[in-house]
Formats: sequence, C-alpha cells, structure tokens
Amino acid sequence: MWYVIIYEVALLGLGFHLLHGFFQRSQDTGCISSQICEAGKNCGVDIHHHHYCRFYGHACLHLLNQRIMILDAKIPEGNLADKWDNYKAHAKLVNPANRKKLDIIVVGTGLAGASCAASLAEQGYNVKTFCFQDSPRRAHSVAAQGGVNAAKNYKNDGDSVYRMFYDTIKGGDFRSREANVYRLAECSAALIDLAVAQGVPFAREYGGYLNNRSFGGVQVSRTFYARGQTGQQLLLGAYQAMMRQESLGRVKSYSRHEMLELVVADGKAVGIITRDLVTGEIERHAANAVVLATGGYGKIYYLSTLAMGCNSSAIWRAHKKGAHMAGVSWIQFHPTCLPQSGEHQSKLTLMSESLRNDGRIWVPGKAGDDRQPVDIPEEERDYYLERRYPAFGNLSPRDISSRAAKERIDAGYGIGPMKNAVYLDFSKAIKEQGKEKIKEKYGNLFTMYQKINGVSAYEQPMLISPAAHFTMGGLWVDYQLMTTIPGLFALGEANFSDHGANRLGANSLLQACVDGYFIAPYTIPNYLADELKLKKTDIDHPAFEEAEATVRKQLQDFLQHKGTLSADHFHKTLGKLLYDKCGLSRSRESLTEAIATIKQLKASFSKDLKITGDNKNNSELEKAGRIADYLELGELMCYDALAREESCGAHFREEYQTPEGEAIRNDEEFCFVSAWEWKGSNNDPEMHKEPLVFENVQLTVRSYK
Ligand SMILES: Cc1cc2nc3c(=O)[nH]c(=O)nc-3n(C[C@H](O)[C@H](O)[C@H](O)COP(=O)(O)OP(=O)(O)OC[C@H]3O[C@@H](n4cnc5c(N)ncnc54)[C@H](O)[C@@H]3O)c2cc1C
Repeated sequence: MWYVIIYEVALLGLGFHLLHGFFQRSQDTGCISSQICEAGKNCGVDIHHHHYCRFYGHACLHLLNQRIMILDAKIPEGNLADKWDNYKAHAKLVNPANRKKLDIIVVGTGLAGASCAASLAEQGYNVKTFCFQDSPRRAHSVAAQGGVNAAKNYKNDGDSVYRMFYDTIKGGDFRSREANVYRLAECSAALIDLAVAQGVPFAREYGGYLNNRSFGGVQVSRTFYARGQTGQQLLLGAYQAMMRQESLGRVKSYSRHEMLELVVADGKAVGIITRDLVTGEIERHAANAVVLATGGYGKIYYLSTLAMGCNSSAIWRAHKKGAHMAGVSWIQFHPTCLPQSGEHQSKLTLMSESLRNDGRIWVPGKAGDDRQPVDIPEEERDYYLERRYPAFGNLSPRDISSRAAKERIDAGYGIGPMKNAVYLDFSKAIKEQGKEKIKEKYGNLFTMYQKINGVSAYEQPMLISPAAHFTMGGLWVDYQLMTTIPGLFALGEANFSDHGANRLGANSLLQACVDGYFIAPYTIPNYLADELKLKKTDIDHPAFEEAEATVRKQLQDFLQHKGTLSADHFHKTLGKLLYDKCGLSRSRESLTEAIATIKQLKASFSKDLKITGDNKNNSELEKAGRIADYLELGELMCYDALAREESCGAHFREEYQTPEGEAIRNDEEFCFVSAWEWKGSNNDPEMHKEPLVFENVQLTVRSYK
C-alpha cells in the first residue's frame, strides 16, 4: 500500500516538475510548440503514465491521467521561408500510372473545391465533385466582390512576402500558425499568374500592369481585383479548369447533391452519403480520400452576407464523426454592409471593403441628430475611425472597424430608420478625384446601392452597418490540410487554418485558391501514396450501411414531426440569440445564458418542428437538417467563446478590455488554437489545444493607432 502512495507522490512530483518546465518554456518563447512526440500521431489519448519527449526539438508532455492534448500540426523543419520547399521536396508521390487507380471525393465546387478538383484530375486521379447548387459555378465564391491579395509589389510601395505574412499574422491577432500564414503569402504571387493565364480579367493600369488597391489592416496596395466581381471571375477560371477535366472524363460532377454523412472505416475517411435534392434518392460514394471544401458557416446568424443555402452540415457531420472543430467562435462581422431594414429580410448585402479606400466613415457628433447628412457641418461630424486609429483610419481592420461602429450605434449615434447604421461618405473623394474616377473604381457598387435603396451614393453618403460575414473557425487541419480523421482534408473557408482570430480583407479568395491549386495537390498525393497498397473500402462495407441508416432515420424523423414551427423560425431565433450573445461582443454572462437558451431551443426543435411536403424536391426538409446542425454548432461556438477568457481579433470579451474599449489579449494563457472534440449529444464537448509558437515575429499589442 505504502509503495503505491510513494509511487503516486513521486509521479505527481515529477509531473509538477515537468509542468513547470513546460510553462517555463512557454514563457521563454511566448508560447510552446505545436509539434508532437511521434510523427503522424496526435498525442490526445488518455495516458495513465507520463512521458516527456522531443520531436523536432519541441516538447510534448503527458501528465498523470490528464489529457494535455498537443495537436500535431506536422509543420516541416527548417527556416520559415524554407518550410514549404522542404515539404514539397520530401512529400511522397504517386506514379502517374497508379493515379487512375485512386478516387477522390471533393465536396464543394467553390474556389477551394473547384481548384482542388481541377488540379488533382489534371494529375490523373479520378475525382467526383458535389455541390448543392444547380451548377458548380453557383458556389458562394461567386459573391466575392473586392479582390484577392498577392505580394507582388507592383506598386513598389514596400510590399514583400514577409510583410504580407506579418500583416496577416498581426491582422489575425497572433492566433494563427506562422508556417501556414507564410505559405499563404509565399504562394500568393503564383496565384495571380495562374489566374491571368486562365483569362481572369483583373483590372489593369493604363500601361498594362495589373492594378492594385488597399484593403483594411495594411499600408500597401496588394489587392488585385476585377471590378466588383473578383470572386465570380476567379471562379469562372477554376470552373473552366474543372470542366476541362470533366470533358476528359477525370471529373464527374454531381450538382444538387448534398453530402449528409461522412463515412469512416478503420479510422479513415472512405466516402460520403449524399442525397439527390431533386429525387430525394440517397447515394453512397466511396473514395480513397475525401475533401471538404464546403465554405463557411456565417449564415448561422441568419442575417449575414451569405446566401440562404450556405450551411455547416458537411463539416458538422464530419465533426460528429471525429474531426475536431477549431476556433469556432472566431466570426468576422464585416463593417460595410447594408443595414437591416426590417423583420422581412433573410440576408444582408455586402458593400465591398474596397469602398473604404475612398469613403470616409462618420456619425453625427451629437447623439440623435436627425439632420440630413449634407446639413451637418464638417466640425459637427465624428470621423470616429480617423479619430481613434489615425495611422490606419478608415482602413482599420474589419474587427476593429465593426466594433467601433457598434460602439457608436449602441451609444445612440446610429443613423437611418432603425438607428442601426453609420455613414460612408464619398463627397471628399469625388471633390478631389472627380465623379468619373470614383465611378470607374466602384461604379457597379454604387449602382447596386441605388437599386436597393433608391439613393445615389454620388449625392449622399451610404448607410452601412456591420454584418456576420466570414468564419475564421472551421475544421482543424494540420499543415497538410488534413483533419483529425486521416484521409479527410478540409480546404478554403471550411477549415480554420490561416486567418487566426480575424481575417484580413481579400485574403480569403487567396486562401481558397492556394489551398486548392497549390497545397492539396502536394499533400493529398502524400497521403494517397500509402493508400495505393490498400484495398479501397467498398460501398457495401458496414460503415456505409450504418452511415446511410443514420441519414435515412433523420430524414424520416423530420417528415414525421407534427409540430407547428418552421425550420426558418428556429434559424431566425438562433441567429438573433447568437448575434446578441455571441456576436460582435460577448461576456461570460451572455454566453452562459446563450448555452442554456440553445439547449431549450434544441429541445423545442425536436418536438415543435413542422416540415411540409415529402421526401422529394423539398427545401423545407433540406433546411431542417441544416438548422439541426446549426443548433449544435451554435452551442459549440458559445462554449468556445466562453472558454477563451481574453479578447483577440473578432472575439471581444467585454470583461477583457482597456478603459478606452480596446481588446486585452492574454498570451500567457491563451496563445493556442482551441480544437473541440464531439462527445455526443448529451455531453459537453472536450477542448484540446494546439499551442502556437512564434519564432519569427514578436507578439505585440495589436495597434492601428
Ligand atoms: C458577399 C461576400 C463577399 C466576399 N468578398 C470577398 C473578397 O472580396 N475577397 C476575399 O478574399 N473574400 C471575400 N469573401 C469571402 C470568400 O468569398 C469566401 O471565403 C470564399 O469564396 C469561400 O470559398 P470556398 O471555396 O471555401 O467556399 P464556397 O465558395 O462557399 O463553396 C462552398 C461549396 O460547398 C458546397 N457545399 C456546401 N455544403 C455542402 C454539402 N453538404 N453537400 C454538397 N455540397 C456542399 C456548395 O455547394 C459550394 O459548392 C466574400 C464573401 C462574401 C459572402
């Protein structure tokens, strides 16, 4: 008996000793490493002993019965600038003759999915693509207006790969992985070359050079654009590349098909279950690897800049099969959207951030001032961004600009019929540059504004307001964009990887394209090289049967519901709740309240939902599944926001702010990415951590003043 106690005490002592070393190391470097003790494995198993080991010189620690999950990001060795080259030099390849023996499923045909499908098919793999729209090219990437970033330094204004990397790391409030962000910046120039070769009509200078403009959070001009249609033009390029492969027989595309379940066998992703949204037919699809490029989940707020159909179901169902979700509560609210005008709306309209290059944002200096904007003299206006952040002014990053607008609106300075907006004013720019120049730059946006509001923004300032827009969070992926389920990759907005706690404008189109054109074509073959030796899992495997049965049961349950409330009712209620309690700002109190309310909402959903129609073409039935997932995801968002007791990027915890209302970050305790594990419907989720290591930048207080 005694020796057991002595043994336990000794273990405890050693544990504390190691823990001390662990935190000592954290303090030395700012944070600890995200590497692991054994290549290729996550260290998150319950350990009944301790050990301390080293991999690539970084520490990994397991303590007595305690889960200290150090997620393995599999970051290659070498200097920051050499990591991607090192990876590429050592990645495994698949012989061209063998590629046609391997099947890959790509769910999503936006920029991330289409570029990935085209690139892998070009290499010779068999690719199946899926999207819920009626054509692959209707993916939501088509809505992106403003532009795509690249460190080409065409303006000769001091840009470089390192500067773009630094801007992005700082923009994300030091909550992203250095190696991923550097790679994003490094691959950016090649993307522009590729897009130009595809025929993407980027704006040009008189002399023929591609033109650039600035987006928030940077002091150089690195944003390439095609009027206000950059996403659409880039998507046409990716779509054409993909359709070329379809005509060659290497891509088979399934439109109006929704993935409703991921199939996992022997711990690996081996296929998906889909529903044909027209016929209602349930189908099984097997593959050697599955890619989710299914976009973001900002639509969870109901009112957002995303289309009604955007949803989280693919990633959420993968999460429930074992893929961790990371940074889930990091949601971007875009500062320049058209304000809500009533209860009838299902969507808010984005006015591109590029408008902030020339538009000045202000509110009346006096709360409740009802005068027309032109009647308010200059000295009675509050250009609050220029006042609070003189260095970046109207080009302050999105999180800061959105919060500053909310602060003014909440303080009673809001304008418009619902007092929920601020002005975006072009009068100075028109006076200085002339109407024609402004028209040339933003003509289509001004036309859109006039069509919606009946007001000419050449004559009067626009009314704008923050709206839910982009999800920095998503499926946790390692450096290879592989999730915690081997064989399951997540690309584009569906993953959490590059933007930290706040995304810089025009970095998302870039990420989606870079993931699909440049990264997945190396990392997926690296995985497939070993798959070649194994037999592909057949669609008769019990894992497929089980997954299909789950899907059928859920659909049947929905159709049998005898409630009175529509899926939209639950979506609206959830969206409003999240906006109020887990939106632009959050607090312990609001989040705790939201979790309790969501639990009630889930209970009500399971008995009060009413679905009209049958199992065929039925948008109500589609919505029900998506809202069921949103309810669970919304709850996780609140858990995530509650656990992060600091303010960073778009995550603003009211308890952690300076007297001037600026965010207080806590690098000592929260310099990590939270990655959540699903533990079942009746249990709380479990948080694991990927500590962030900063070896190339100094963690500083993010200031744009
Ligand atoms: C209005 C607006 C303007 C924007 N402007 C810019 C900008 O100027 N610059 C910038 O960098 N970023 C911008 N963004 C962000 C950027 O457009 C997106 O982050 C990016 O396009 C996402 O691309 P994606 O390929 O990851 O996803 P998406 O383009 O959203 O594609 C998702 C795909 O997944 C499919 N899918 C989803 N779920 C399922 C399922 N269960 N089964 C089958 N298929 C499924 C869809 O059908 C679709 O094909 C903007 C976003 C919005 C909303």
